[in-house]
Amino acid sequence: MESRRERSFEFELPIGYVDADGRLHKKAALRKMTGRDEAVIADKSNRNNGARLITELLSNCLVRLGTLERPQKPVVQALFSADRHFLLMKLREITFGAEMQATYACPTCREANVVMEDLSALEVRRLEDGETPKDVVVELEDGYPDRNGTVYDTMVFRYPVGTDEEKVAGMIRENASSGKNALMARCLKELGDMAPARREALGTAIFNDLTLSDRARIDKALNEGGPGVSMRREINCNGCGRKFTTTLDMSNFLAPS
Ligand SMILES: [Zn+2]
Repeated sequence: MESRRERSFEFELPIGYVDADGRLHKKAALRKMTGRDEAVIADKSNRNNGARLITELLSNCLVRLGTLERPQKPVVQALFSADRHFLLMKLREITFGAEMQATYACPTCREANVVMEDLSALEVRRLEDGETPKDVVVELEDGYPDRNGTVYDTMVFRYPVGTDEEKVAGMIRENASSGKNALMARCLKELGDMAPARREALGTAIFNDLTLSDRARIDKALNEGGPGVSMRREINCNGCGRKFTTTLDMSNFLAPS
């Protein structure tokens, strides 16, 4: 209806959504959150699953995605995590403003550093026009040794999507490390020349048997350098003067500063 004035804000996704016909949709239009969305945030079932909350909020507030009007939940679930987190960041920005108070505890002196973050200033890496997301290849240092002593040292991952996040959110709440294993197992496409059926049967066990340095390598490959909003923050401690690296504090994310 003409009379229904709904101001929307347009953004370009870091990766984009490829529909069933192979068309890439990169322009997303969001509307501000309303009282109804606040109820979605307060909903207990959503509070237990942050990924489902993101799906609900984005399904409500995404007015348009490329040529898709009012994309529904399955589309939001199929979006890459990098795009979902980017949209969530923008949703926060248009609703409450780009300023967000964050607190970072210094790993050396424990000083709580209060910082006013500017969300609009966070670095966003986007794929080039027409570029489709590539798989992430990780060369392991120690590799995955199977029972017969064969060592597999190359892993190929696809980027996670909303459905992956929803599936592992409960596990991450219970135990961050095993939740992470489950997410990596879902996104693992190749482990050296191991047969897919065997790889799938091993599942998360593969990641339990990796050395911590190999796990760190995977983490780095999946989270740094890829498309999306960079959550890395460098803080100068007010207490001891040391510099430390951390990730963006999101505790005030869904509240005005
Ligand atoms: Zn300090």
